Amino acid sequence: MTSSVAMLTRHDKARLIAPALSQLGWQLTELDSFDTDTLGSFAGEYPRFMTAQECAFRKAALAAELSGRDIGLGSEGSFSVGPFGIGTYNLELICCVNVAEGWAVTGRFYGPSLARQWQLKDAAALEQALADVEPGQHLLLQQGHYLKKALTVAQAHNLALLRLANGDVTLSYDLRAHLSPQRRLHIQQAADDLARRLQSYCPECSTPGFWPDKALPGLPCEACGVATNLTRHRRACCQHCGHTTITPVAARHASQQYCQECNP
Ligand SMILES: [Zn+2]
Ligand SMILES: [Zn+2]
Repeated sequence: MTSSVAMLTRHDKARLIAPALSQLGWQLTELDSFDTDTLGSFAGEYPRFMTAQECAFRKAALAAELSGRDIGLGSEGSFSVGPFGIGTYNLELICCVNVAEGWAVTGRFYGPSLARQWQLKDAAALEQALADVEPGQHLLLQQGHYLKKALTVAQAHNLALLRLANGDVTLSYDLRAHLSPQRRLHIQQAADDLARRLQSYCPECSTPGFWPDKALPGLPCEACGVATNLTRHRRACCQHCGHTTITPVAARHASQQYCQECNP
């Protein structure tokens, strides 16, 4: 069965997401009449007033509403400090809402990002910074109120050299999807995750998105058998009928390095 699915998008995101959904026989239609950046953008032009999850859901519901289709998609990316306070992590969410059947499923990617920012004082620091930028990644250049976006590495190099004559320059990644190869890859991975979840159905009522999201701790220590904080079971719960399954993970025991008794 071929379904037509609508998505509000700028920055070429639909092209990244469409291949994963074609496995389901879904055809993605882009609506570009709506400026999704007014819902909050990480470039900071508008303050955020929703979580990334709410934002993706809202965009998906709007896409369905504005297109008059049953299914809408919404995507949202965000960047934050990684676990343990190290590095920058990218969260990509793609929410799929079926307004006729009343369900929503969200695919996700979460992982380290190459995103960087540099305060530059001279040409030597500039050369060093630019040597680390991966091919195709675009940059933002800031100096006081001056802001220039979407610069190639060569453009950023020339502009920064000019600007350094007036003082320090801040260079950072332009993380909009069409300007960041790594982010495009992460969006594709979130789309693959969404496709897998959409093909996982509740055994009771067949609603999609039946997925063992919830990790339950308690994997026993290999030496003393005491429950550790490692995952022992995973729980899936249907958003429509509430049907729940709890499945044990493949591992039978936790290494004693995770045990509070053996390795306090
Ligand atoms: Zn133990
Ligand atoms: Zn169900």
